[in-house]
Amino acid sequence: MQGLMQDRPLLISSLLEHARRFHSDTEIVSRTVEGPTVRTTYAGLAERAAKIAEALIEKGVKPGDRVATLAWNTHRHLELYFAVSGIGAVLHTVNPRLFLEQIEYILNHAESSVLLFDISFADMVAGLQPKLPLVRDFIAMTDAAHMPAHVANCLCYETLIEAQDGELEWPDFDERTASSLCYTSGTTGNPKGVLYSHRSTVLHSFIACQADGLQLSSRDTTLLSVPLFHVNAWGIPYASAMCGAKLVLPGPNLDGKSLYELAVAEQCTFSLGVPTVWLGLFKYIDETPSLDPNDLKIKRVVIGGSSAPRSIIEKFNRMGIYVLHAWGMTETSPLASISNLLSKHKDLSFDEKVDVQAKQGRAIYGVDLRIVNDEGQVLPHDGSIAGDLQVRGPWVTSGYYRSEGGDVLDKEGWFSTGDVAKIDSDGYVLITDRSKDVIKSGGEWISSIDLENAAVAHPGIHEAAVIGIAHPKWQERPLLVAVAKDGNPPTSDELKQFLSERVAKWWLPDDIVFVDELPHTATGKLQKMKLRERFRDYVLP
Ligand code: ADP
Repeated sequence: MQGLMQDRPLLISSLLEHARRFHSDTEIVSRTVEGPTVRTTYAGLAERAAKIAEALIEKGVKPGDRVATLAWNTHRHLELYFAVSGIGAVLHTVNPRLFLEQIEYILNHAESSVLLFDISFADMVAGLQPKLPLVRDFIAMTDAAHMPAHVANCLCYETLIEAQDGELEWPDFDERTASSLCYTSGTTGNPKGVLYSHRSTVLHSFIACQADGLQLSSRDTTLLSVPLFHVNAWGIPYASAMCGAKLVLPGPNLDGKSLYELAVAEQCTFSLGVPTVWLGLFKYIDETPSLDPNDLKIKRVVIGGSSAPRSIIEKFNRMGIYVLHAWGMTETSPLASISNLLSKHKDLSFDEKVDVQAKQGRAIYGVDLRIVNDEGQVLPHDGSIAGDLQVRGPWVTSGYYRSEGGDVLDKEGWFSTGDVAKIDSDGYVLITDRSKDVIKSGGEWISSIDLENAAVAHPGIHEAAVIGIAHPKWQERPLLVAVAKDGNPPTSDELKQFLSERVAKWWLPDDIVFVDELPHTATGKLQKMKLRERFRDYVLP
């Protein structure tokens, strides 16, 4: 017997429509590429999204077509989030920080027919134009006064909007229709496309709004310091529309100073970002003694994308800012586990609480997690043993766009994440490594993440990466590559002494090399592939 409830489709347009009707006055503030700050509301967002959607339809965009963006966190990019998916087309957000060849590969692989871009990328687009035979229309996301001269046959976003009436009614269609496309950033080889659906996106939004999720609500002002080109900005644009949170978009500037100033000016209460973003924020605070950090009204931050170093969690905790350490990946939309504290943790000491928060958290409803060994046997969740982390759920990928990589699920529907993790008896996941980053010394695993976190806990260390170097006796031994803070960097011996108080003796790096900078991926993660290449012939002492 079937239930008798209405079968309304879970569509992205319903999020926008809800925000338009029930949070119409709630503000959306955006810094722009041109300079001025633009202030609008959900009503304004809905009107302009409808207009640009009408323009795209006029330009021949049909359901299923891929419409690409190369753009920062601005109100126009946000409009496209709703406009493109709202008409049944697929929003293809391209990461402009990738290598040019990767951008070209991604745009051609996705067969995107329209490319909308911020004028800061005009040179890049002009250079790419001859190599993008499938792109019919190039649209500069600006007004007539700022149009780039050197992009051939380029249309103007604001001129397109002005010509429309905004009367569009968002169409209904199957909620499993593709809504957006995001390529993995390539830490693991050629970028592969993850194709989200309306259903997966709306379900994922509920998690951000859950009390045991990211606790996003209409009382929040969100500083969106995760790029809109990185995994749907972790789903926050959709979730904000769902609950009517005020949104603050930092435009092209994600440096510590810009974020700090914007957070203070708009009284932001919530923000999220990769550890590099937070390192930048603290660097600015540390280097600017005239600031009063009490001016920051942020109450919660999410740290994700890479393991959150303890030092960052401690700093936030000391400022009274609650840290949500979250784990996920492009393939999981991305929210999968979140390190909320439980009521049994309320009387823990400061350090014990940080111990819990430094883990990547518990599975949220909808995402099933487990660890398996090399033979595929399921391992216990008792915190003692590490295995390959697998996931499944309604916002986890079932395969890559255009079947790249073939079947990615096992017979029971589990997706192997490529991460190595332990899961404790409370269900907290501890990511110990990526499977290919783990260091195998004499058959035992050394966690590069643990070593890195221990190193950055030293006050003289800004950033650290640990890679395995071939060793005649132990197969591999760790090499620590570190960036010192300005001023008073520790010597190798001091740092080794510091580490020896924090990790097992046999984990201590065989050598420490100081460098000016570490290589990062386009999303701010350590690019260990590059480091491994650079130190391929390195001889340990
Ligand atoms: P890419 O795979 O292209 O680097 P993703 O953004 O999809 O891009 O990266 C997902 C990966 O990032 C995860 O598989 C994991 O290795 C790492 N990651 C994400 N969040 C965390 C976290 N909180 N702690 C440790 N690693 C994380």
